[in-house]
Amino acid sequence: MKIIVLKFGGTSVGTTDRIKKVAKIIAKYKKKYNVIVLSSAMSGVTNNLINLSKKISKNFSDSEYDVLVSSGEQMSCALISGELINKGFNARSWMSWQIPINTEGKYKFSRINKINKNQIVNYLKKGGIPIITGFQGINNKNRITTIGRGGTDASAIMFAKFFNAEKCIIYTDVDGVYSTDPNKLKTAKKIKVISYEEMLEMASLGAKVMQPHSIQDARLNRVDIEVRSSFTDNEGTLITKRKNIINNKIITGISNTMNDAKVTLLGVRDKPGIAASIFKPLSENFINVDMVVQNISANGKETDLTFTIKSDDLSKTKRIILQNKKINFRDLIFDKNVSKVSIIGVGMVTTPGVTYRMFQSLARQKINIQVISTSEIKISVLIDKKNVRKAISSLHKEFQLNK
Ligand code: ADP
Ligand code: ASP
Ligand code: MG
Repeated sequence: MKIIVLKFGGTSVGTTDRIKKVAKIIAKYKKKYNVIVLSSAMSGVTNNLINLSKKISKNFSDSEYDVLVSSGEQMSCALISGELINKGFNARSWMSWQIPINTEGKYKFSRINKINKNQIVNYLKKGGIPIITGFQGINNKNRITTIGRGGTDASAIMFAKFFNAEKCIIYTDVDGVYSTDPNKLKTAKKIKVISYEEMLEMASLGAKVMQPHSIQDARLNRVDIEVRSSFTDNEGTLITKRKNIINNKIITGISNTMNDAKVTLLGVRDKPGIAASIFKPLSENFINVDMVVQNISANGKETDLTFTIKSDDLSKTKRIILQNKKINFRDLIFDKNVSKVSIIGVGMVTTPGVTYRMFQSLARQKINIQVISTSEIKISVLIDKKNVRKAISSLHKEFQLNK
């Protein structure tokens, strides 16, 4: 029998009633497939665990953080298995260390590099349904690791890869990937098929529906993903390679972030090497600098430099810049009330005028663009957070995404 991997997100296992529904979905697939299940923690549980760590310390140990926050998945897996056993199925929960699922990299941000198949294969042969904790693994020191928020998506994709599954279905609380967050814009339209490249950009630029790393893993390993709802039977979205898609849209989707901060250094000496002196200590401290803009110096001596980072990194960034003896500047300004809005689409590669249409559409709404960055298939602008909804709605209309 062929293997199918099913992943259930936090809302899908958010209550015992939801878990009973999930068990019904699993039972349906069991008629045709060997089923491997990956589950997230019940919604809210991981956040509560993180808050507990913050109450102990702002600098809570990273390795203990992983032990703590990975515990939510243990609960949901036991509840799903318990319900399946009640229904007469042969099911059991598996913690990642019991398999094991091996990871590499730092605590909090590890990546799965190997899954030991032996026990699961034997269990499947006996007709069992393994219910496996997502979001986690163990490292070469035999310690528990986690793989980044929303990481169960990546766990499911890696299981699909290692077990050569016929399908990987991501069950969530929306019935697919939409042109933009359907909970924020009513006219958002479901996308039937989307390429890994576009999905990766949409996810990295703020579309929470899929974790960005999981899409990288899927693309690398050519795992097709179906995103669908555990609440309805509606057809979902297929995430697949570009070749499989015939698409005549210029723009496929719009994403936005809500957790960016803007940093401006006024009156920086304009000489070679200054930007490197500013960014080197930031990169050494794992601070990810995103958009960067430098004004052309009016007098040839001084310039202003603006860049964006994640809001969580703001106080660290401030400290590093103020301690940096290699740079001189007149003033340092921070702004947390910014948001990055991006339009994404492979169609823009071959269509001229997309940038102009984006800027004109925002100008009509009197929305000021603070910083711009582009890549082959996306254009991002930094704007005032209060204008995000207006911006998305006008861009959605401009590029006819509701059609
Ligand atoms: P899960 O807990 O199942 O992993 P998430 O909360 O991580 O679910 O992701 C689902 C949410 O992603 C939706 O409720 C929706 O608000 C949000 N979302 C953001 N952008 C999009 C988009 N383009 N399409 C669909 N959902 C999106
Ligand atoms: N429970 C984890 C989180 O909330 C992992 C996941 O949901 O995929 O981030
Ligand atoms: Mg998620």
